[in-house]
Amino acid sequence: MPKPKGKTAASEPPRKLAMPRPRAAAGAKRKKRAARSRYSPADVHEIFRRFSVQRPEPKGELQYLNPFTLLVAVVLSAQATDVGVNKATRPLFKLADTPEKMVELGEAEVGSYIKTIGLWRNKAKNVIALSQALIAEHGGKVPAEREALEKLPGVGRKTANVVLNTAFGESTLAVDTHIFRIGNRLHLASGKTPDEVERAFLRIIPPEYLRHAHHWLILHGRYVCKARVPECWRCVIADLCKYEDKTASDPAPLVRLDEDEDEPASAAQK
Ligand code: SF4
Repeated sequence: MPKPKGKTAASEPPRKLAMPRPRAAAGAKRKKRAARSRYSPADVHEIFRRFSVQRPEPKGELQYLNPFTLLVAVVLSAQATDVGVNKATRPLFKLADTPEKMVELGEAEVGSYIKTIGLWRNKAKNVIALSQALIAEHGGKVPAEREALEKLPGVGRKTANVVLNTAFGESTLAVDTHIFRIGNRLHLASGKTPDEVERAFLRIIPPEYLRHAHHWLILHGRYVCKARVPECWRCVIADLCKYEDKTASDPAPLVRLDEDEDEPASAAQK
């Protein structure tokens, strides 16, 4: 039976006219399903409360001097480790910590500093192009608006989210490989794409924890809920986690971690 479409359905028998209704109902049902989490609001609250006790002031591991160098570092970090990016940017940022200085340095010179980073040729182009755009359109300053950020060369939603969160204190969540894995593995915020996972997390994270959720989740994924073998034995949310293959059900002691208690060596597995 051909499916009724748009105006043509109006000339068809009533039975056919009725067909779109179940589809609409199914859509609503799908929407409802997407919003449902396997965790109660109290459980989600408890998960983030524990993360907040472990790391009251979590910080990302990319090194930067100001919003501009943060933006450049995040652009360079696509498909690269924070450790590798820091190694390249340390000498680069000594020479160029503003868009003007970066443009003056030029694409070839920028390229010579970032050669150890994947896709460096394209990234060097983008760093110069975004520096030029910042000078031409924003007076050499990094804009604090998502729309303006996403118009810059080499800047997508994830980069904009990191800059808005880290440089401007906005409660955004940039879904990287760790956050994507945690959302799906734990059935906490499932989704087929980073955007879906971002939306799912934003629906469930209590507002008071949204500001730091990005860093808590990345650090939890990088050091504990690792990609190949999660280290459930030292996980503070092991009792709440709904991953079918977790290897512990008792939570690790909830203590505040100093920054050097993380495992710097593991950062290379970003
Ligand atoms: S219990 Fe294991 S799988 Fe669950 S969050 Fe902790 S480390 Fe990850």
